[in-house]
Amino acid sequence: MWGTQPDVSPPPAPGQHQGARPPPGDGGVQPEETAATPLLLVGALDSEEVEGLKAMLAPLGQPVHAASSWSEGFVALLEEEPACILVDARRDGAGSLQTAHRLREHEQARHIPLLVLVGRTLPGADLPRGEGLGTVDYLLEPLHSELLRAKVGMFIELHRRERAMRAALARAELAEAAAHESERVLSTLMGNLPGMAYRCHNAPGFPLSYASPKALELTGYSAEDFTSHRVLWADLLHPDDVQEVWAHIQEALHSREPFTLTYRIRTRSGEVRWVWERGVAIHGPGGELLMLEGFVADITALHQAEQERERLLAQTRMEHNRLETILQQLPCAVHIAEAHSGRTVAFNARVEQLLGHPMIDVRNIKDFARYRAIHPDGSRYAAEEYPLARVMLTGKEQPEEEALYARPDGSVRVLLISAGPIWDDQGKLQAAVASFIDITELKRTERHQAFLASVSETLASSLDYEDTLAHVVQRAVPTLGDGCALDLAEPDGTLRRLAVSHVDPSRAELAWEIARRYLRGLDAPCGPGAVIRTGHPELLTDLDELLTAHAVDAEQLKLLRELGVTSTLTVPLRARGRTLGALTFYYCRKSARYSQEDQLMAKDLAHRAALAVDNARLYREAQLAVQLRDEFLSVASHELKTPLTPLHLKLTTLMRELPRCCEGDARAQELQHHVEVARRQVKKMSMLINALLDVSRLSQGKLKLELEDADLGEVLDEVLAWFAPEAARVGSELQVETRTRVTGQWDRLRLEQVVTNLVSNAIRYGAGRPIHARVTVEGDVARLVVRDQGIGIAPEAQERIFQKFERAVSERHSGGLGLGLYITRVIVEAMGGSIRVESRVGEGSTFTVDLPLSPPPDARR
Ligand code: ADP
Repeated sequence: MWGTQPDVSPPPAPGQHQGARPPPGDGGVQPEETAATPLLLVGALDSEEVEGLKAMLAPLGQPVHAASSWSEGFVALLEEEPACILVDARRDGAGSLQTAHRLREHEQARHIPLLVLVGRTLPGADLPRGEGLGTVDYLLEPLHSELLRAKVGMFIELHRRERAMRAALARAELAEAAAHESERVLSTLMGNLPGMAYRCHNAPGFPLSYASPKALELTGYSAEDFTSHRVLWADLLHPDDVQEVWAHIQEALHSREPFTLTYRIRTRSGEVRWVWERGVAIHGPGGELLMLEGFVADITALHQAEQERERLLAQTRMEHNRLETILQQLPCAVHIAEAHSGRTVAFNARVEQLLGHPMIDVRNIKDFARYRAIHPDGSRYAAEEYPLARVMLTGKEQPEEEALYARPDGSVRVLLISAGPIWDDQGKLQAAVASFIDITELKRTERHQAFLASVSETLASSLDYEDTLAHVVQRAVPTLGDGCALDLAEPDGTLRRLAVSHVDPSRAELAWEIARRYLRGLDAPCGPGAVIRTGHPELLTDLDELLTAHAVDAEQLKLLRELGVTSTLTVPLRARGRTLGALTFYYCRKSARYSQEDQLMAKDLAHRAALAVDNARLYREAQLAVQLRDEFLSVASHELKTPLTPLHLKLTTLMRELPRCCEGDARAQELQHHVEVARRQVKKMSMLINALLDVSRLSQGKLKLELEDADLGEVLDEVLAWFAPEAARVGSELQVETRTRVTGQWDRLRLEQVVTNLVSNAIRYGAGRPIHARVTVEGDVARLVVRDQGIGIAPEAQERIFQKFERAVSERHSGGLGLGLYITRVIVEAMGGSIRVESRVGEGSTFTVDLPLSPPPDARR
């Protein structure tokens, strides 16, 4: 308010309302001077006299009221404040004087001038009585109208003046009251203003000549401190702001514009406060600067709030930027929509990339229908089917789901979408967010992997690869085309078509026919022959041209056209550096093409097929080798065994004859020892050859059991007895823990073989420590346990040692063929039993054989 010079008209006085009588002279209402000034006639008058008097007074232009005597009507006329009362005493002098006296006593009439009209008959003594009445004048008969008008006119003039004086007095009182009120209001305002109003003179430092009471609250100094110039406002200015403040004031003075400043002051207590000042320069009539007037308010709190607001705004901006950056960096598409309206609030670039079109301007949820999600049957999603819309309609999180999206470019993508609500502090749904990723490739890969896995399963299901490959060729359709063919390379350089498939079985026959008649060898310029020759895949898309170029004759061209192939993909079947054949996939539709992924999958499939072929071939070769080995072993062991029996007999005879022949010869004992060693070696050799023979018999399925009543405990005793010398020789003590007699239906010799193998191993690998054996019965099973404390068997070898030619120690340390446990297992299993080992390296081994007391019916082989 200090910046402009306001209209300072005083506020209305209390009780005075707008539209009250304006001051004189403003022309709105008739002024007192021109207002009607009635005249009152009183006395015993007849109407003629009244009319005569009225006629005389008429030129004065004032209303004349008449009353013959004191009456109610007369008193009422007094209310109108007549300018003069004419008392006509011409007829009734005494009565009229009495009336005059009553008027003098009457409250309202007391000050109204009386003009007594006196007749000639009025006694002279009555005149002085009349004069005692105060403002009284006389007129004697005969009445001269001009004299009468002059007198009455004078009273009228007096009356007017008095009225004007009264009005002026009233106005003065009113103005004084208004001035008092203004002063009171101003003081109240000043005291209650949220800051300090001031006035300062144009003197150095602009000392204040007025400061409102708020100065104290604002600065800690009283208004008087400033007005007495004990303190200069300029001294409170913060040093950092002084220059700027003065520059602004100078500029304002120069431009004669009001100034607005924001700066800091230091209060009496040293506190720094931010103030806002609005001021204006007051100039004298000659344009000279007289003073500055203005207003200063404490805006420290506001300033702090502003700073806090700025800080929060900056923080919000940063949060927003961070969110936006995160949104854009996210590997998935994110779409945030306002609750209820569905209007897009935020989204990242991936959304449009994934959808393949710009965001749709959604105004309400119904507009979601303009997006292009489709059901598997191709029908479009309804608006409320979109996960984002469902969140808005239900407020519930929508878990991940797959949806197909038909992009404007014609491609259909598989999207994985999830959506959830965003609530505000009051728990009201504010927005919904949907995130989605494109899983089209993943789905395709998944399909491909599932296909390849099932193909692998087929390939692994049998070693008859020709059969399994034919299955694979059938399975490749329609995943990898409308048709498929497999050609194998023959050693003579020709190709053999192994299998053909086609979505339309009638055309499969046609494909067979073409292959039968026209399949070319490795010298072919393209197709399977070329692929097998070069080892490189081949993709042909302009097939019409190729057909024309390579068809052998018109008939082949005709057949090929009939098959309708539009593109082919041929991949080699390669394993261990050799190309075994080729798989050819083909489409019979112009719209279908082999993508990069298709080619990778075709190669993968061919690789798996090649491995299957290679494995099957290797297996066959291995089988053949094993068969040859077994045949050799069978022949060799048989042939080796033939000379061993007589050799053993001869050595036995030699042992028996030697003491007799060499009696007395000092070397006889030495010789006998040599023969004994030779006999033991022959026996060992014979055991090895027996084992070989057994293996070849077992391989040929020639194990024959002679089941009879046999006692396992007895067999154990016998075997331990045989091995006692050998055990003693290596230092192992043979201990029988439990000697139970257990009779079962078993092949006794084979049983001996089982126990022999286990005991001989325990001695061989027992490291010269004690060996324990026991036979027990567990229900309907006989159990044989042979435990040593020798070298033990590593965990990874424990399964293996029951296989043919498997050893857990090196050949050098074993001295065996790795056949004993194999034969043992086969015998035990043939009698319906089982064998297992528990062992720790360095701590010994425990072999356990379980044999049913009655072997199964098929045991007798
Ligand atoms: P071998 O004639 O080689 O002993 P086996 O079939 O009887 O043939 O045994 C297979 C392999 O099992 C042995 O070479 C040996 O490494 C291991 N083995 C068998 N019995 C024992 C045992 N009691 N302690 C440690 N190793 C053993």
